[in-house]
Amino acid sequence: MAVSSFPQTPSHASTRAVHAGLSREAPFGSATTPLFQTTTFAQRELNGQIVHTYSRASNPTVAALETALSELEGLPFAAAFNTGMSAITTLLLATTRSGDHVVCGDVVYGGTRRFLEQILPRFGVKATFVDASNLDAVSAALRPETKHVIVETPANPTLKVCDIGALSALLSDTGSTLVVDNTFLTSFGQDVVSLGADIVVYSTTKFVEGHNSALGGAVLCADRDLHDRLVHIRKSVGTIQSPNNAWLTLRGLKTLPLRLPRHSNSALAIAEFLLAQPAVAEVHYPWLQGSPGYQVARRQQRYGGGVVAAEFVDGYAGAVQFCQALRLCLLAENLGATETIVTHPASMTHGDVDPTERERLGIRDGLIRISVGLEDPDDIVADISDALEALGPSTRIERHAEEVAL
Ligand SMILES: *Cc1c(COP(=O)(O)O)cnc(C)c1O
Repeated sequence: MAVSSFPQTPSHASTRAVHAGLSREAPFGSATTPLFQTTTFAQRELNGQIVHTYSRASNPTVAALETALSELEGLPFAAAFNTGMSAITTLLLATTRSGDHVVCGDVVYGGTRRFLEQILPRFGVKATFVDASNLDAVSAALRPETKHVIVETPANPTLKVCDIGALSALLSDTGSTLVVDNTFLTSFGQDVVSLGADIVVYSTTKFVEGHNSALGGAVLCADRDLHDRLVHIRKSVGTIQSPNNAWLTLRGLKTLPLRLPRHSNSALAIAEFLLAQPAVAEVHYPWLQGSPGYQVARRQQRYGGGVVAAEFVDGYAGAVQFCQALRLCLLAENLGATETIVTHPASMTHGDVDPTERERLGIRDGLIRISVGLEDPDDIVADISDALEALGPSTRIERHAEEVAL
């Protein structure tokens, strides 16, 4: 970890985002963090004092990103990884052993679930999936050997909200740590550390980098031993972030405080638009009045977030027709980017979750996820509206009749 880049910490988050990780001693006074696109660092002498040796162990550009993330989250230690999934797997490799147990929210990123369900059990680590918005369910799932409770809020893809403060209180006299995947809101949208998270996890691929340009992940914590273990495993298995992607992520961070409110305001507008559409049975958005997690989401989130989910009356057929009729929005798996991205979780990101379990969790075949981008919200609404019109033949006929009448 590099030392703080600030002579003194600026009080406003957007100022911190612009300057985080940037060293005042950068070569030639470079205004951006230099990109050390190198695998290797030559050593002047054997056994001399060296900071970096080989970029699988550490790299100055990656270290700058770690400093920035740590400053912004308000946690002393950060480790950057080449993907969000490698951040999560490295954390679990560093902290669990055969016989251990993990409790995980039942609605989480598909890859997190796949690792806990299909891979970790081979090493003797078991996972129980529970509704993390139900404290009794979480409490009942805890065992003496439970290492972590892992949650996402709002959760991918149904936007289910859980109460981080209440979970932290529940775990306070147990041996389990609370791990929060804060990918959907970032430190600017949800201060999970103040709410009681012990460990914060990111896919920086999403809102942090924010431009569909670089995969990445991070684990942040206050525990030096844990950080040392993470760095040790990362070096051993090779999951460190690449210098180039670290550089792109640092650049993305600078505008995150500007992007997040734009994503969120547009997302609320789109959620409200969808709510009024007859083809849409249900809309999920944390800040939509009357949604199940509304009170908690208003309390613990600074923004509603950039992701909306909607359920089609016509189920699978409706979702597929809608996705194929879009012209501006991209049909893709990513989220948190400049472009609006529509995903069909049942066939894309959550295709590996058992269909009966998917249904139980509300990841139904008619569910689509919209990551609302930075386009003008009117243009996004127009594209969605045109795609909805393509759904119902009856609507099309009426429209055609109108045109003929004109
Ligand atoms: C995308 C995502 C991940 C995985 O991140 P990658 O960078 O794609 O490996 C983990 N958690 C959440 C909430 C995500 O959205």
